[in-house]
Amino acid sequence: MRRPDGLLNHNVLGEDKGPQDACGVFGVWAPGEEVAKLSFYGLYALQHRGTESAGIATSDGERILIFKDMGLVSQVFTEGDLATLKGNLAIGHCRYSTTGSSTWVNAQPTLRPTKYGTLALAHNGNLTNTGDLAELVQKLEGSATSMSGVTTDTEIMTALIALQDEKNVEASALAVLPQLEGAFSLVFMDEQTLYAARDRHGVRPLVLGKLETGWVVASESAALDIVGAAFVREIEPGEFISIDSNGVRSQRWAEAQPKGCLFEYVYLARPDTTIAGSGIHKTRVAIGAQLAKEAPAEADLVIPVPESGTPAAIGYAKESGIPFGLGLVKNSYVGRTFIQPSQTIRQLGIRLKLNPLREIIEGKRIVVVDDSIVRGNTQRAIVRMLREAGAREIHVRISSPPVKWPCYYGIDFATRAELIANGLEVEEIRRSIGADSLGYVSLDGLIAATQVPSERLCSACFTGEYPIRIPEDMTEGKLRLEITEVHGH
Ligand code: SF4
Repeated sequence: MRRPDGLLNHNVLGEDKGPQDACGVFGVWAPGEEVAKLSFYGLYALQHRGTESAGIATSDGERILIFKDMGLVSQVFTEGDLATLKGNLAIGHCRYSTTGSSTWVNAQPTLRPTKYGTLALAHNGNLTNTGDLAELVQKLEGSATSMSGVTTDTEIMTALIALQDEKNVEASALAVLPQLEGAFSLVFMDEQTLYAARDRHGVRPLVLGKLETGWVVASESAALDIVGAAFVREIEPGEFISIDSNGVRSQRWAEAQPKGCLFEYVYLARPDTTIAGSGIHKTRVAIGAQLAKEAPAEADLVIPVPESGTPAAIGYAKESGIPFGLGLVKNSYVGRTFIQPSQTIRQLGIRLKLNPLREIIEGKRIVVVDDSIVRGNTQRAIVRMLREAGAREIHVRISSPPVKWPCYYGIDFATRAELIANGLEVEEIRRSIGADSLGYVSLDGLIAATQVPSERLCSACFTGEYPIRIPEDMTEGKLRLEITEVHGH
């Protein structure tokens, strides 16, 4: 249905489905191009990073139009919708919620008037000082106004920038960025200029690309390929860039202290993306080879849990000399299950998404390679399915170390209590999932495969050593602003 403000609202609250890991952001400055369509295809390439909602904001130099809704990128926009979003620059977002619930009002980009124009903003990451920032916004707004509608860290950032007493968005952003703690890769815009910024640790990726007629900023390099942009470079941790008719201007708002997310290499990023100079597919093949060295198995066939386990299974097969085969068929349209919200849906999801190929599996000793074990439900169901399909032995191999700690920087695995490796040893997990053997790659082996020095990576979900301070209220989860009503504490 149409909202009074002209935006669509299908009101599909709670329709949490599909891969839910981080968020995808995209920005383009390209006068003369169909910027809304470029954003659409950019978001389409980043769909795996967030499937709850999608949105695009464009500007023709005079005013910003924004269109967002719940659902997949392909469900949210029609050709007609995109045709109305005219302009020279645009930003886009696809969302998985890590602060605030999955509702229409929390979809991005956010929009806010400022005294020098309008601000639209899209965010991938998760702030760790949201409570303090919310109080700051309340102070700036004055007690007469209410922040009760603000339930995401993204809205708080938008409000903070908009409320600065500076001469333009650039100056306001540069005043606000040092106050933000946590993980953020941002794209934002006013009527004339596209901006991008990355937190000082560069937890989430963000890259710059060049079109013939302009510039693109995106979460992953794969999105540049899909819109025909040439990869220029990664936006540096602690960097702020502005793009307009004067070209690209870069400023450093903080000294870089790189702590890139190790899990992007294992699972989150697309295999055709490049991070820190390493192709993700190649890295995952190398992780699989390392896994074969560290956790060998006597077996007849190596199969992946498709598709995220596929490159590691290829590497495992190559290193071990055991033939590679496809033993599980995936319905690609059902999401990656480990982070779906309810136990019931998760159990259903596993059945919906994977089906074993009996003729491949029957009578064989199988190595099954997956990217991670979070709660253990997926692997337990897979082992059961493979046994039902006649596997003689099942050796589960995991291309990441045990996930023992929650992520507070933009990935919603589970609470600590839900993580199977929190409290159970490997042998106990093996028994719990019903496998004949279970092996994980070591942290050192994983890091070596990325070819990134360990001090430049975050590996907190494996080690519990959080590189960015976690305040106590973070443990209240992503709905904390809704529970405490921001100004009430
Ligand atoms: S805690 Fe894990 S998932 Fe989160 S940023 Fe660090 S490595 Fe990535």
